[in-house]
Amino acid sequence: MIYNEFCGKKVSRLGFGCMRFPKTYEETKECIDLAMKEGVNYYDTAYVYNNSEETLSKCLEDYERSSYYLTSKLPVFRMETKEDALKFFNESCERLQTDYIDFYLLHALNADSVKKIKELGVIDEMKKLIAEGRIKHLGFSIHAPKEVLVDALELYDFDFVQIQLNYLDMVHEPGFEGYEILTKKNIPVVIMEPVKGGMLANIPYPLNEPFINYNKDLSNASYCFRFLMQFPNIKIILSGMSSLDQVKDNLNTFKEETLFTKEMADAVESVRQNILKTKKVDCTGCKYCMPCPFGVNIPENFSVYNRHAMGKVLNNEWYMKAEYPKDATALKCVECGACVKKCPQGINIPKVLKETLEEQK
Ligand code: SF4
Ligand code: SF4
Repeated sequence: MIYNEFCGKKVSRLGFGCMRFPKTYEETKECIDLAMKEGVNYYDTAYVYNNSEETLSKCLEDYERSSYYLTSKLPVFRMETKEDALKFFNESCERLQTDYIDFYLLHALNADSVKKIKELGVIDEMKKLIAEGRIKHLGFSIHAPKEVLVDALELYDFDFVQIQLNYLDMVHEPGFEGYEILTKKNIPVVIMEPVKGGMLANIPYPLNEPFINYNKDLSNASYCFRFLMQFPNIKIILSGMSSLDQVKDNLNTFKEETLFTKEMADAVESVRQNILKTKKVDCTGCKYCMPCPFGVNIPENFSVYNRHAMGKVLNNEWYMKAEYPKDATALKCVECGACVKKCPQGINIPKVLKETLEEQK
């Protein structure tokens, strides 16, 4: 197992994400036992992950508390009062059967939750728990633009930050820009969704042909991890492992440091391009076409259209289930053409909007 120095501790670079445990307790226990045996010592759960804290603590009950690190998260989005901070923290500790949490995160920050943290005085509550030794290290996870990241970093001198990054989603907010901001500030980074919710593990042939040509013995998922491992400030990469085979495959990937060669980078880029080619419309989401005077959310309609197309090819249920906007629907388009001249991609917007309506029939 590869280890990194993370907040002064020796932590495995592969973290066990606990949001997608296997269906049965027995399978989960088998996965955790193997991960523990092979040196995975970082377990990432959250108050809102269904039953995950309880299951994790049961799986780990035979191990010394000092042999692993527990992570959980404060659901700021569910908080109504300042007192909720301690209430949620205590409940997490109770479910995890522990007095302290090694790495505690303010969960899924966005502009609203940053505001709420300030208004309710959440950081003061966190400071009390840190002073009592019940929180060892404080961080946050975020799915928001870089401006919100910068704002959140002003709240406290955080020990670490968790962001989403994978080779298909380098611009997912705050994306690679977020990684660079954090790296400049010497804040270690934890990565979530490295395989895009499992989607990049299931790339069908021939889209994954460049991987097969590079090395047919490596799994699709392993390329996702190897891609991220080239960035030194990514200290931990979380994987929501939901089967023993996935645990074994990941353990093999993280067994030792490997060079991310130019040839491997080329293979990843070719697969990325193959996936992007499944898109129906070349919309970058820049929003230059907005606002539509008739209330159509053009980029959102196109994004759903593309997600459906990609979901069909990659057999991804989550993408296929994406819903078109109910109010800002393409039905409102009167083909005035005002948006077309603003689109840098030269998309015939009213025509493609009609296609999205065809799909919805
Ligand atoms: S063409 Fe349709 S989408 Fe574009 S501005 Fe006019 S009504 Fe809105
Ligand atoms: S301007 Fe073009 S590329 Fe940009 S969001 Fe609108 S349709 Fe998409």
